[in-house]
Amino acid sequence: MSAQIISGKEVSAKVREQLKKDVEQMKSQFPDFRPGLVVLQVGDRDDSNLYISMKLKAAAEIGITANHLRLPKTATEDEVLRCIVEVNEDPSIHGLIVQLPLDSINRIDTEKVTNAVAPEKDVDGLTSINAGKLSRGELGNCFLPCTPNGCMELIRQTGVSVAGKNAVVIGRSKIVGAPMHDLLLWSHATVTTCHSKTVDLAAEVGKADILVVGAGKPEMVKGEWVKKGAVVIDCGINYIPDSTKPNGKRVVGDVHYSSAKERAGYITPVPGGVGPMTVAMLMQNTVESAKRFLQTYRPG
Ligand code: NDP
Repeated sequence: MSAQIISGKEVSAKVREQLKKDVEQMKSQFPDFRPGLVVLQVGDRDDSNLYISMKLKAAAEIGITANHLRLPKTATEDEVLRCIVEVNEDPSIHGLIVQLPLDSINRIDTEKVTNAVAPEKDVDGLTSINAGKLSRGELGNCFLPCTPNGCMELIRQTGVSVAGKNAVVIGRSKIVGAPMHDLLLWSHATVTTCHSKTVDLAAEVGKADILVVGAGKPEMVKGEWVKKGAVVIDCGINYIPDSTKPNGKRVVGDVHYSSAKERAGYITPVPGGVGPMTVAMLMQNTVESAKRFLQTYRPG
């Protein structure tokens, strides 16, 4: 039997609709108040421009005031850090994200820049403070990274309970794999995290009741590896040549979708799976940050 498809497009639309209502509610209580988000970009990468435009559009639809701060390719680390400090100190901004990768002709320490964001405005959940809290299971007291948080939301949609299940994560990056491991662990799954040195990936995948893949390798996970009935969440965004398409390429995930669909119980498509959830979760964190701000400092 073919898997049920988990539509990130539909789930993310519901999340964004709810956030819009939350912002309306804030506005009715505090008419001059708006959640504020800053997206800081260094340089001018095409892919970053595309992702940023998606974030700005989603923010505008929800009623979040979003500013796009652009620094040129010639920006130095000091200039980037100074810009972050200014935003950290601006009370009208509740979320600050630094678009990665930084596109500068100068050497800039990405880790230093990421960690300069005030933890209470770190709506990407990438500072060491927020990552540390997550790894210790303090989930209510931090910002969760958007892609893994979106994956958890999609898993919840299936109705499959995570507690006690065998979960396998492929990838251990700071943005996808490592926080995904933590979220599954603190949702009480037994978690195995695989990476490029894992000896027998197929065997590990075969044990997964819940499989989350973030490897950046097109169609790497084969359908026959997947355990029958598993929940398969594919974070991958890979462009492969396709002469039948007008632009000569198409997007595929890290999972071989058509074969995995025949064995999985639930599966996310690419595109339309995890991708739209990432933006929705960023908006959710921003609205949450604004709520926390209002609880601490009531305007007026
Ligand atoms: P990284 O390149 O930072 O990390 C990839 C991870 O996969 C690494 O931990 C690496 O292992 C592991 N890996 C690579 N090859 C293999 C292999 N053959 N077997 C097992 N593990 C392997 O990528 P990201 O985490 O940033 O992104 C992962 C994917 O998710 C990409 O396709 C990216 O485009 C997508 N993505 C999607 C987002 C969305 O919004 N949907 C957001 C962010 C990312 P090692 O650590 O040993 O090198």
